[in-house]
Amino acid sequence: MAKQRITVAKGDGIGPEIMEASIRVLEAAGADVEWDYIEVGEKVYLSGNTSGIGKEAWDSIKKNKVLFKAPITTPQGGGYKSLNVTIRKTLGLYSNVRPSLSYAPFIPTRYPGMDVVVIRENEEDLYAGIEHQQTPEVTQCLKIITRPGCEKISRYAFEYAKAFGRKRITCMIKDNIMKLTDGLFVKVFYEIAKEYPEIQADDWIIDIGMAKLVDAPQDFDMVLMPNLYGDVATDILGLMTGSVGIAPGANVGDDIAMYEAIHGSAPRHAGKGIANPSALLLSGVMMMVDIGQARIAEKVHNAWLKTIEDGVVTYDLARKLKAEGREYTEVNTEEFADAVIERLGQKPTVLAPKVYGDAVKIKKAVLTDVRSQQMDLIGVDIFTRGDFNDAKVIGDALVNAAQETGMRLKMISNRGLKVYPNGHPETFLTDHWRCRYYAKNQGDILKNEDITNMMNIISTLDGIEVIKTENLYKLEGELAYSLGQGE
Ligand code: NAD
Repeated sequence: MAKQRITVAKGDGIGPEIMEASIRVLEAAGADVEWDYIEVGEKVYLSGNTSGIGKEAWDSIKKNKVLFKAPITTPQGGGYKSLNVTIRKTLGLYSNVRPSLSYAPFIPTRYPGMDVVVIRENEEDLYAGIEHQQTPEVTQCLKIITRPGCEKISRYAFEYAKAFGRKRITCMIKDNIMKLTDGLFVKVFYEIAKEYPEIQADDWIIDIGMAKLVDAPQDFDMVLMPNLYGDVATDILGLMTGSVGIAPGANVGDDIAMYEAIHGSAPRHAGKGIANPSALLLSGVMMMVDIGQARIAEKVHNAWLKTIEDGVVTYDLARKLKAEGREYTEVNTEEFADAVIERLGQKPTVLAPKVYGDAVKIKKAVLTDVRSQQMDLIGVDIFTRGDFNDAKVIGDALVNAAQETGMRLKMISNRGLKVYPNGHPETFLTDHWRCRYYAKNQGDILKNEDITNMMNIISTLDGIEVIKTENLYKLEGELAYSLGQGE
């Protein structure tokens, strides 16, 4: 069989040092792969390419379908886009897998017994980066959560649990506030959970859920989160294991995957040869499992565990062991790789040896087709800008504006809170007013021209400017928008 070709990006800062060390260990363990090197990151950015990646690099990743990537430095300012976000979204790497495992007492941590895998949705949520200045006072960022996105990530989480013998998945969301977006995320999670009765499924609201996760991580097995919460949670968990230098990660799509450490390029340590290559090496272990070389993954992981047990560590962990008065041998990046290579074939004696199953096959999601569902247009939110200190003034004007139309003003809200009719004088008001109109006759379905007509009438009013609209639908007979606070 032809060797698996893997695209390698050596990265910036400490990247080349830790990549060279990781590849040396994987090769010494007998990894049956060929490496194709690409240039991405700082050099490419500074050559004028604001995405940090050129055509040849894209071609190599698309052809090999596996990218092993060291951290890169994003130059500050100048409109440079995050290479990671670009790669994840362009190639559909929707699943961010981050295992957080403690290795106490060999790596000091306040959380011995922690063994949590976070699956973070990688493409959606506030990371769509759709932001607008709406009025001089008000900015907005759109949170996009889609049904296909939820189905893919939930399916991945359950398939991962099945493949790696995990027993429970906890979904963390804020669906008491974001009933539609986070509500969809957790709803789809439970829909998919029904197909995996052997895996326990539960959920927590993110705030108390995170508090519990940080207080007692040993009580959790796998955690599934939308993008933003997952971004915050995985850095916290990574550090809780003892060092960001040991936290690996994978970004996985249906056909392509990227493996990388969760940490950055640590530019202050670049060129000194002292960085910890463990996070990247362990990302390489995840890669070996996924490409079907589980024996190699096992061999490397167990040798790494033995190295850690023997107290052979880089400066980041040496500092911690010293503070605890433990014995250790401090080595540099290359010497650490040598120490792992020397122990290939050995297993840890105190920590649990790693066993990887041969056939880890993650099943692709078959997406539910919801595109033909019935959407009835029953109203519209017309967002306006206006310099008013009294909601009644703008409210009365907008009620009057609808008189000759088939629509009626139901309410106005300011920052989500209903302020008209019957607002409270104590409420702080901005220059941003959401005006909710429904069809005058309940049950009537509106047309687009009813909305443009209403917008045109509002545009003629003194001191009020239309900013944008959001349609109010019933989806298959159910309200498909949130009520205003106090509506
Ligand atoms: P960082 O992760 O590079 O460094 C944070 C801290 O952790 C520093 O004290 C650093 O010395 C230490 N550290 C990180 N990796 C280590 C290792 N392997 N061994 C020992 N110590 C290690 O984060 P930062 O300083 O915020 O970012 C530096 C650069 O990295 C920035 O340009 C940022 O954009 C980039 N970055 C890249 C990625 C990526 O490519 N995936 C991720 C995060 C940050």
